[in-house]
Amino acid sequence: MRRAIFSAAAAVLVSLTSAPAASAQSTPQQPQRPQAFQQRHDPRKVPVAEGYGGAVATVDHDATKAAISVLKKGGNAIDAAVAAGAVLGITEPYSAGLTGGGFMVYYDAGKRKVFTIDGRETAPRKMTATSLEGIPFDEAVTSGLSAGVPGTVANWDLALRTFGTYSLKQALQPAIEVATKGFVVDQTFHDQTAANADRFKDFTSTARLYLPNGAPPPVGSVFKNPELANTYRELGKRGPGWLYGGGLGKEIVATVKRPPVTPGSTRNVRPGLMELSDLRAYRALLREPTKVSYKGLEVYGMAPPSSGGSTVGEALNILEALPQVGLHEYLEASRLAFADRGAYVGDIPRVPLKELLSDGFAKERACLIGQTAMPHPAAPGDPDGRYGRCDRPSGTATPVAKEGPETTHLVVADRWGNVVAYNLTIESTGGNGIVVPGRGVLLNNELTDFTFGPAPGDPNLPGPGKRPRSSMAPTLVFDDGRPVLAVGSPGGSTIITTVLQILLNRYDWGMTLPEALAAPRATQRNTERTEAEPAFLAAHQAELESMGHAFTENPEIGAATALEFLGRGRIQAVAEPTRRGGGSAMVVSTRR
Ligand code: GLU
Repeated sequence: MRRAIFSAAAAVLVSLTSAPAASAQSTPQQPQRPQAFQQRHDPRKVPVAEGYGGAVATVDHDATKAAISVLKKGGNAIDAAVAAGAVLGITEPYSAGLTGGGFMVYYDAGKRKVFTIDGRETAPRKMTATSLEGIPFDEAVTSGLSAGVPGTVANWDLALRTFGTYSLKQALQPAIEVATKGFVVDQTFHDQTAANADRFKDFTSTARLYLPNGAPPPVGSVFKNPELANTYRELGKRGPGWLYGGGLGKEIVATVKRPPVTPGSTRNVRPGLMELSDLRAYRALLREPTKVSYKGLEVYGMAPPSSGGSTVGEALNILEALPQVGLHEYLEASRLAFADRGAYVGDIPRVPLKELLSDGFAKERACLIGQTAMPHPAAPGDPDGRYGRCDRPSGTATPVAKEGPETTHLVVADRWGNVVAYNLTIESTGGNGIVVPGRGVLLNNELTDFTFGPAPGDPNLPGPGKRPRSSMAPTLVFDDGRPVLAVGSPGGSTIITTVLQILLNRYDWGMTLPEALAAPRATQRNTERTEAEPAFLAAHQAELESMGHAFTENPEIGAATALEFLGRGRIQAVAEPTRRGGGSAMVVSTRR
């Protein structure tokens, strides 16, 4: 294996240093543009909209509509993003909720500055590096133990107080209306409920809400959540303190410690460690964004505890150091960036972020990319500040942990030029499966994003008050200081490759933004086999296999949303045409 790494490195050294060798290389394999797409399900959903005065893309019609109506009434992008996030808590309750967490990347046009908010859940103070050791992953998924201290309400509150114009009460109003009037159950909601039915039935509160007649609500029926409407109403009235130490907090702690298991259920449901003091101690945090330059553009992302910004950024830097960028290079750069993510990124003070995002380190890593796929697994590099040679890394690769395809992402731009990219999540589809009785909302199971261990030295082991490493990658792209694009996706660790691939589709491979989102995806996360969608395999498998890549099929990767500023005030909002039933894009006005 060592020799193979060395010879691959040697091969690319030749191509990096000798112009004739580089020009003799075959043209890099680039993805084919997607065919015109069709939409499934909800006919009200339009995946692409273009216009002026503000724009929104989410996975859901009601959420997009709510955000647009906030913008039309004079709210700004932050007000609209919170309003949309709260609606997604109703209509996409298995991906997002007030009891979850997330990350917001925000461009403030007035200040001409990018801010980020870390609303990630935290581990309770009683949690230690060994608290998850030996627990089967699937058992942790549906437990009180995996529920992190919720960050979403603190995130909304901080965002609104710092950058918004709405009160929390105002921002929750559209969601209260949707929860009260109900929304039409689509195939995705139905399927997600059905996939969860086995565990939902094991909790009295969850079965009552989501399996109303002992079965998932049928497609086309109207689903109301009056308890959640009331929870939002109370939250608006009483403020975030109701959750962070008050009555709602007490109910959450009680649910985590004594999950309402259905009598007769044989499920082993582990209780959690959360205390009211953990909720009191929670803070959403303003953090510096990550920033890299890529081919003249500036790319801003989310810093640790998310690995989104650092991993997308490192991969872009590696690609920029290569003489050409094709699908092979995309997969290899991603493989290397994931090796470094696993070794160095977590909620720890010593993440070598500056080095991971340095051009010197990227060049050293790029040196390992040859004409064929490198051997699995790629070892992490040495972001030690001493670069220049084509160093063979000495570290040991960490396995990629199991992460599901959940979460949601939304983008908003307003008439003042402010832009939000916002990922929010409760981790698994359906979180930990436990609805807080009487409150209409599922708890998160975000703490399963920690490394369970034993794994000495792993930056992502649990710890008191620690935030599990995330892959969420809300991303903003600038050209000469002006925002040109916003993008993000759900999908666990595939979020990173989805965002990366969309950026390459758009900026390297000549696709429009709608094409860039629709194009078939592949995800290489330092795994032996690259996961890829069927259409990607049909188009590229044979050629990439001839270069040493191995594949496994993944029916659907990600569910992205994005915005592009087309110039002279025109904005294009883009959602998925088909993945997860397609998303919803709208603009404030189609005319200037
Ligand atoms: N928990 C994941 C993360 O923070 C997001 C959930 C998902 O997309 O699976 O990276």
